[in-house]
Amino acid sequence: MTATVPTPREPLPGTAAPALSLEGVTLTYPDGDRRLTALDAVSLDVAPGELVAVAGPSGSGKSSLLAVAATLLRPDSGRVAVGGRDTARMSDGDRTALRRERIGIVFQQANLLPSLTAEEQLLAVTHLRGGRVREARGRAAGLLESVGLDAAKRRRRPHRLSGGERQRVNIARALFGGPSVLLVDEPTSALDHERGERVVELLAEVTRRHRTATVLVTHDRALLGRADRVLVMRDGRLTEG
Ligand code: ADP
Ligand code: MG
Repeated sequence: MTATVPTPREPLPGTAAPALSLEGVTLTYPDGDRRLTALDAVSLDVAPGELVAVAGPSGSGKSSLLAVAATLLRPDSGRVAVGGRDTARMSDGDRTALRRERIGIVFQQANLLPSLTAEEQLLAVTHLRGGRVREARGRAAGLLESVGLDAAKRRRRPHRLSGGERQRVNIARALFGGPSVLLVDEPTSALDHERGERVVELLAEVTRRHRTATVLVTHDRALLGRADRVLVMRDGRLTEG
């Protein structure tokens, strides 16, 4: 007789406590004599291991949403919490530490340093943090391998990598600090459709494997299929897709 042991299951996306939570976030920019509302009472919870895609036309507020979530911009009103901690209540120093330790950011352009190899792009972050070099090298190599860069490619500088490979290095670098929140802004805009699809596939994989709460901003609707949830930004308002 065999006893049936229930298979342990990971909580479904949406059932775990949110790693990132925005509540009624409003952000305005100065605009002549008035102010332009870039985010209008936006609320969003993202659970560990969940990939949320945010679509919407150019100028609708997608990058502003990421900047607020990254604590790079402070909203006029509303609340931004990372790992359950209200970021407005932190000191500047604590917020900087939070950003470094808990938040990974992938911008549109890879912004890699031209003189560093792929592996060194990741290690440059460690050096600043005084981490142990050998352990860090092993981890950098492992992460780059996991995003599809073999040993030879890991030793190349950015100009000898393709656009897709550079974006992979960018993603690996964002993951290097072990973030719980991953914010990705139009990662495929410099890539053709096929490469773009593969980068989004990678982001979905990374989200599962590293259990990050991932927000992927894109205006390319063809890339939304991989997301657990699709939201649409229009004139600063976030709605279900
Ligand atoms: P998206 O990423 O969807 O293209 P953004 O968040 O960049 O949208 O911009 C939302 C709105 O805010 C746009 O009208 C844009 O012109 C305006 N905006 C963005 N950044 C600034 C800024 N630093 N100062 C003033 N207005 C800005
Ligand atoms: Mg943008």
